[in-house]
Amino acid sequence: VESRQAEYRDQKGMTSDGKPFELAANIAHSIEAGPAFNNGAEAIGLFRTEMLYMDCTSAPDEDELYNIFCQALEAAEGKSIIIRTIDIGGDKPVDYLKIPAENNPFLGYRAVRIYEEFIDLFKAQLRSILRSSAHGSVKIMIPMVSSLEEILWVKGVLAEVRQDLRKEHIPFDEKIPLGIMVEVPSVAFIIDQCCEEVDFFSIGSNDLTQYLMAVDRDNEKVIKHYNSLNPAFLRTLDHIVSSVHHHGKWVGLCGELGAKGSMLPLLVGLGLDEISMSAPSISATKERLSRLDSRECRILLNKAMECRTSLEVEHLLAQFRMEQS
Ligand code: PEP
Ligand code: MG
Repeated sequence: VESRQAEYRDQKGMTSDGKPFELAANIAHSIEAGPAFNNGAEAIGLFRTEMLYMDCTSAPDEDELYNIFCQALEAAEGKSIIIRTIDIGGDKPVDYLKIPAENNPFLGYRAVRIYEEFIDLFKAQLRSILRSSAHGSVKIMIPMVSSLEEILWVKGVLAEVRQDLRKEHIPFDEKIPLGIMVEVPSVAFIIDQCCEEVDFFSIGSNDLTQYLMAVDRDNEKVIKHYNSLNPAFLRTLDHIVSSVHHHGKWVGLCGELGAKGSMLPLLVGLGLDEISMSAPSISATKERLSRLDSRECRILLNKAMECRTSLEVEHLLAQFRMEQS
């Protein structure tokens, strides 16, 4: 099995009917970039930057961040990297920020919601990302967006930072794309408006499942409700992808779902532009992908969305797998 997967490692992700499907890696530090590309990643679909802030006594400064992002870009050799601004606060505490503990951290003060208070920290991130964009293909992504106001506010800050850099004659990619995570359900219902304001989207299936179903993603007691086969979740995904594509924009998925083999036919059916996952899963996913027909997957997804329960979807998937083998 391993040698067969190795065969796929260096090929581009593609379905049996020749539809390209980019397979990217999630990383949390630049030192993971090299190994990710060696594992066959076609891009970095999610660089979670919060780890850079978590195991230290103070926030990394602009130059430190810039160096880290440049290291990742060097390993990328021209392939693109989506750098997500910090998703800390709530359940990912950082002592030196002194954010008070909360009763409902997942519904609380985290990610984009803390940027206004920690504006210097956010600006240092934007500056370091912009500066690194002079050395490779970089995209900026904002986590936990729940309203258009937040997007407009971020764009205002970004415009200021860009203007500062121009004044200082510091080079950056003037066309650097700005994207958002789709992980709070409200965004699915303002997706058309969001398409007018940002360049790309990445579905965070971990949080989107949690918030759509109102189940704590870390609570064993309710884990049976945390089910990505729920028809409500599948319809939400389809609505997001088809709306984004209607506007001619790009949408990937970067939650743990991407590496779940049994889900792949449904993800292909959605017509996502990219799936980003932990690097060791990439070769196996490319191999599975090569055996799937995109049109059959679309038919399967349509049937799944008409199901009434997760169990019905599960049976449908099992039947699809049997017919495949
Ligand atoms: C997600 O929510 O699916 C996601 C990729 O973000 P994180 O797991 O970092 O919250
Ligand atoms: Mg998330």
